Amino acid sequence: MTDKQDFVDIRHAQKSYGNLEVLKDISLKVKRGQIVAIIGPSGSGKSTLLRAINDLDPLTKGEIWLDGVQVNKKLPHRQYEKHINEMRQQIGMVFQHFNLFPHMTARDNVAMAPKMLKGLSKEEADKLAEEQLDKVGMLERIDYYPSQLSGGQKQRVAIARALAMHPKLMLFDEATSALDPELVDEVNQVMKKLAEEDMTMIIVTHEMDFAASVCDRVLFMDQGVVVEEGPPEVLFKNPTKARTREFLGKHL
Ligand code: ADP
Ligand code: MG
Repeated sequence: MTDKQDFVDIRHAQKSYGNLEVLKDISLKVKRGQIVAIIGPSGSGKSTLLRAINDLDPLTKGEIWLDGVQVNKKLPHRQYEKHINEMRQQIGMVFQHFNLFPHMTARDNVAMAPKMLKGLSKEEADKLAEEQLDKVGMLERIDYYPSQLSGGQKQRVAIARALAMHPKLMLFDEATSALDPELVDEVNQVMKKLAEEDMTMIIVTHEMDFAASVCDRVLFMDQGVVVEEGPPEVLFKNPTKARTREFLGKHL
């Protein structure tokens, strides 16, 4: 079932809040190992689309598929809960605001979900936490609490925590927007490393240079539609739509 064409397959996604239609028939396919950036003005529906992928923000209409399985399939409540928990374990998500547990060390933040959800022993989960924190360059701070870490370090712990579940897909929603400028690069470097390891990623970002350097494709969203998409060298250099040109004029 793992057709290379449609590892992630968003089919005719539509989402309304009352009369406000925030996603208007969006379709998007991402191949395994591909990295897609989503750019666009505030309020264009980027976060809504990302949250719809793991059904945190259920679509009004449309289907989300990951690796041959429909994420948002209709099931009786109990079955749905089991299904969506399994799906969410396969989808790592990193938000703008590091949602680390403040009363837990970096190690425990990373080890918790594998212990609780995958039944790893404390030793196994601690070893996994060490591996993942090492990968994001945070091994030296493994016993620090979030309050003892900088924003960039917290965000790297948040990435390690998502990676500890061995997700098939990573979603980043403006992971560096809340950081002081000098801390952005250390987080971007971690994302670049994941890209080199062929992680499939969908990245909402305001950083055009970063998108251009790591992404295979860039989607420009505005008012709930994908206005234009293409490889970064095409979309950034030769956008065909006026709305894309106007947006890039302000952000490049
Ligand atoms: P972006 O991430 O591109 O800035 P969002 O996906 O956050 O955009 O929001 C898209 C639109 O949906 C905005 O107009 C926003 O006000 C609206 N919206 C988002 N969440 C809700 C909600 N829970 N209830 C009502 N409207 C919402
Ligand atoms: Mg957003």
